[in-house]
Amino acid sequence: MEIIKSSLQFNSNMTKMGTVEGILLHNSGVSVLQSIEVIHNYHKNHNGWAGIGYQYYVRKDGTIYEGRSEKYAGAHCPGANSISIGICAEGNFNEETMSEIQKQAIIELIEDIKLRYNIKWIKGHREILNTSCPGANFPLEEIINATVEKNETAQIKKSIDEIAQEVINNKWDVQPRRKQLLEQSGYNYNEVQNRVNEILLGNKTTVTRKSNEQIANEVIEGKWGNNPSRKEKLQNAGYDYNAIQKIVNKKLR
Ligand SMILES: [Zn+2]
Repeated sequence: MEIIKSSLQFNSNMTKMGTVEGILLHNSGVSVLQSIEVIHNYHKNHNGWAGIGYQYYVRKDGTIYEGRSEKYAGAHCPGANSISIGICAEGNFNEETMSEIQKQAIIELIEDIKLRYNIKWIKGHREILNTSCPGANFPLEEIINATVEKNETAQIKKSIDEIAQEVINNKWDVQPRRKQLLEQSGYNYNEVQNRVNEILLGNKTTVTRKSNEQIANEVIEGKWGNNPSRKEKLQNAGYDYNAIQKIVNKKLR
């Protein structure tokens, strides 16, 4: 993916960007082709802003231009300017539909942005304010779904404990969507849910923790399977694998 840096001149009265947590999608609202300079000059001279209000402008042919630097709050959605990155797609999607090449460019751009920030939401302008931007034909859902799935499968490496904790903290939605999301991301749903139950029950009951000695006996009885999955199971259940294995070795000697 290539982002074209244009040599736009901004006035210096820009606010610093805050903590970015979202991405807001717009359309230019006109069907005619417009260069980024045209939009920049309009925002600057007609609206009296520092310069173009969006951080990115994606043209119908899929070329991506950098607008206002991500270092500065945009001017594209009052209330969200200092917490979101604004992307504007060339076109009026109340009247036309988006080409595949433009859609793919937006998806790639979003994936790139998501690598740099902890993005919690992606929305269309009209979902936040009373506006028809981006138009009704703008493929909002398709774009959001495409980026959510890729992003989640890309970061598999977490332990069952971490994921269980995330489930408890409501980061994985509710059923049946939770199961779907976990499986899409490569996790074993039952394993995660069992761990969640263990953690939640543990919090409620207070005890039921077995001693290393008891667990060592269970290991010998075969209740914890064989390595390497035994080690993982013991650790996921919160036990000290090495300490238990030492006891097991001693008993079997
Ligand atoms: Zn808009």
